[in-house]
Amino acid sequence: TPLVSLQGIGKVFANGVTALAGFDLDIRAGEFISLLGPSGCGKSTALRIIAGLTHPTQGTVTWPAASSADHRDDIGFVFQEPTLMPWANVADNVWLPLRLRGVSKSDARERIAQSLALVGLEDFAKAYPRELSGGMKMRASIARALSMRPKLLLLDEPFAALDEITRFKLNDDLLRLQRELRCTIVFVTHSIYESAYLSSRIAIMTTRPGCIAAEVEAVTPTE
Ligand code: ADP
Ligand code: ADP
Repeated sequence: TPLVSLQGIGKVFANGVTALAGFDLDIRAGEFISLLGPSGCGKSTALRIIAGLTHPTQGTVTWPAASSADHRDDIGFVFQEPTLMPWANVADNVWLPLRLRGVSKSDARERIAQSLALVGLEDFAKAYPRELSGGMKMRASIARALSMRPKLLLLDEPFAALDEITRFKLNDDLLRLQRELRCTIVFVTHSIYESAYLSSRIAIMTTRPGCIAAEVEAVTPTE
């Protein structure tokens, strides 16, 4: 059974723009799936619908294996722009959502240390976002998402604003992270190379009319 199943999803915005029409997608537990397609084809909208941040105007989203009522607890979301709070250091940026979730101080301390180590920022806990490079800011955003221990990690063109060398490094780190954490990853990108490098499966989207044109599966497992 899939982790999440999107069936017949349509999204028409208030301004009349159709982002998705008849969109079907099953997310399998443990996979690294890329949503690949040109700008405007509805990738972000699909991701936001999976996260429950946007409601579809048509179709259903189901979590067949889950019993919990609020799946948002199991989801980590990483946006294209690192959304760090400039007035807080890296550790506090990771800590704030944990505090909002009611995680105890001692548990939070452990999670902060662990997630910063996972992204290689253990020496930058006290640094402020303005002191970090673009790549490091993105790492901090990923650490913040990981500290919630998500089953499902959703990344919306996370490395699009970074230079290629940094992107390659972060791609490798993301693959290593998934092997270590065994989480499911949905990765939105417009880069064919990036999706081919990272994914166990690629859903290719086109602009007309915002549905999946093809699915490509890795022949050899990535492990
Ligand atoms: P992608 O992530 O593939 O670039 P999006 O999901 O962001 O595509 O957008 C799909 C389409 O929906 C685009 O035409 C975009 O302009 C439109 N769209 C996205 N968000 C909104 C919104 N909040 N209101 C109106 N139109 C939107
Ligand atoms: P980029 O994203 O610019 O490629 P990386 O995250 O790959 O940066 O880090 C490159 C190296 O530079 C790392 O070893 C990091 O520790 C170091 N570094 C980057 N910015 C700083 C800083 N403000 N202070 C100290 N070291 C830094």
